[in-house]
Amino acid sequence: MTVRVRFAPSPTGHLHVGGARTAIFNWLFARHHKGAFVIRVEDTDRARSTIESEAMVLDDLRWLGLHWEEGPDRGGPHAPYRQSERVDVYAGAARELIARDVAYRCYCTEEELEGKRKQAEAESRPPHYDLKCWHARGAGGDTRAPYAVRFHVPEDGDVTIHDLIRGEVTWRKESLGDFIVVRSDGLPTYNFSVVVDDHAMEISHVIRAEEHLTNTHRQVLIYRAMNWPIPQFAHVSLILGQDRTKLSKRHGATSVSQYAEEGFLPEAMVNYLALLGWSSPDGTEVFSRQEAVARFSLDRVNPAPAVFDRQKLDWLNGQYIHGMPAAELGPLVAPFFDAPWLEAGIDLVKTSVTRLTQFADALAFVREYTPPEIDRALAEALRAEFTAHGAPTDETAYKAMVERLKSTTGLKGKALFMPLRLAVSGTEHGPELVRLIPMLQHASGVDATVLSPLQRVERCIR
Ligand code: GLU
Repeated sequence: MTVRVRFAPSPTGHLHVGGARTAIFNWLFARHHKGAFVIRVEDTDRARSTIESEAMVLDDLRWLGLHWEEGPDRGGPHAPYRQSERVDVYAGAARELIARDVAYRCYCTEEELEGKRKQAEAESRPPHYDLKCWHARGAGGDTRAPYAVRFHVPEDGDVTIHDLIRGEVTWRKESLGDFIVVRSDGLPTYNFSVVVDDHAMEISHVIRAEEHLTNTHRQVLIYRAMNWPIPQFAHVSLILGQDRTKLSKRHGATSVSQYAEEGFLPEAMVNYLALLGWSSPDGTEVFSRQEAVARFSLDRVNPAPAVFDRQKLDWLNGQYIHGMPAAELGPLVAPFFDAPWLEAGIDLVKTSVTRLTQFADALAFVREYTPPEIDRALAEALRAEFTAHGAPTDETAYKAMVERLKSTTGLKGKALFMPLRLAVSGTEHGPELVRLIPMLQHASGVDATVLSPLQRVERCIR
C-alpha cells in the first residue's frame, strides 16, 4: 500500500505547536514509508479563515523544514487543496448520498430546531434530530426553499475503529442523531468535507489531534454509506502545560513563529516536538531528522497527554547550537546580531548560550568596554607586553605571552589571570583567555568600534 498522509490546518492564525507536532508526525510517517505528505487547507469557516493565515502556516511549516508533495501552493494530482475551492465536490458527494437514500434534504429552520432541542431537554431526551424531514423525504420537498443536507444514522450505526495509537474505540449508534453534512448556505460541515477529501486524495492514514477522535464515528458512517475504503486512524494526544492544563497562551509562546523569533533552531524544534509523545526505540533524545525518519513508528506514540517542557526545549536547542560550526550559525545569528567578526565571536561564546537571540548579550563585551580598576603596575606591564610583542593571535603566541608576563610581573595563577581578564574584557567572567584575546585582536582589526587588547589596557592606565 502506498502511504499517503495529510496535514489539514484551518487557517485561522499562526501554526500552533500542537499543529506543528501533528504535521511533524505526519511528515515522519510519510518519509519513513516513502509515501506522500499532503497539505490540505480547511478554510470553509469563512468568518475565521484568511489567506494571510494560510501563508503564515505554510511559512511556519517551511521554517520547520517540512516538505510536502502536494498542497495549495504547489498543486498536485488532487488539486485544488483548499476546501473553499472544492465546494462543488462536496455538493456532488451530497447528491450521491441523497441518491443512495442515506441522506436527505432538511427544511427545518433554525428556530424550529431550537424549539425541538429545548423540548427534548425538558423531557430529558438526547437532543437528537426528530427525523421529521427523513420521514417526509420523497414527498418532493420544495427544492427552492433553503435546505440543509442531513445524514441519516442507520440501524447498524455502531462503529469500532482500531486506532493505531489508542487501540480499539467503539461508539454506539444511540449516541448520534442525524447530522448535517451540507449547511443551507451550501458549505459542507467539517465531518463531511474531511471524508470527501480524504477519500478523493487517497489518504491511507489519518494522523490528527485527539480532539477529533469523537468525530470519527460520524466520518466512518459516511465512508460506509459511500462504500469507500476506510483509512487507518491515529489520534495524537493533547499537549499540556507544566500545570497539566491544555497548552495555551498562559503557558507562554504557543506559535511556531514565536519560537523562531525567540531564537530556536528548526532542527531543535522538530527534535523536541517529535519527543512530545514519541520516543526513539534506543532511548536517545537528541537525533537528526533523518534519524527520526528512520526510527519513527506510530506504535511508539504514547496515547497519554504530553507535557510541554520549555526548559527541556531550551536545553535541546543549546545542544544544537553547541554542536553547530560557527560558519553555519553565522547566517542564523545575523538577523538578531551582526558584526564583521561574527563568526569568530560565535565560536568563542556558543557553548554559553541556548538560543540564537542570546548571542547579542554574550558578545556585548566585545563592543562595550568599561575600564576596570586594576593595579597600575600590572596594567603597565601588560601595555609593555602588548606593545613589544603585539597581542597574541593564536594559542602558541598566547602561551609565550603568559610565560613572559609571569617573569615580568612575578605573578602566576589567579593573581595574574584575573586582572588580565578584567583588563581585556572588562568583566570577571567569560570565555577562556587563550581564545578571548586572539578574538579581540582579530575583531579590532575588522571593526573600528572594537578596542584592541592594547587599547583596553591603555584605558586602564589613564
Ligand atoms: N482542520 C482540522 C483542524 O485544524 C483538522 C481536521 C483533521 O485533521 O481531520 O483541527
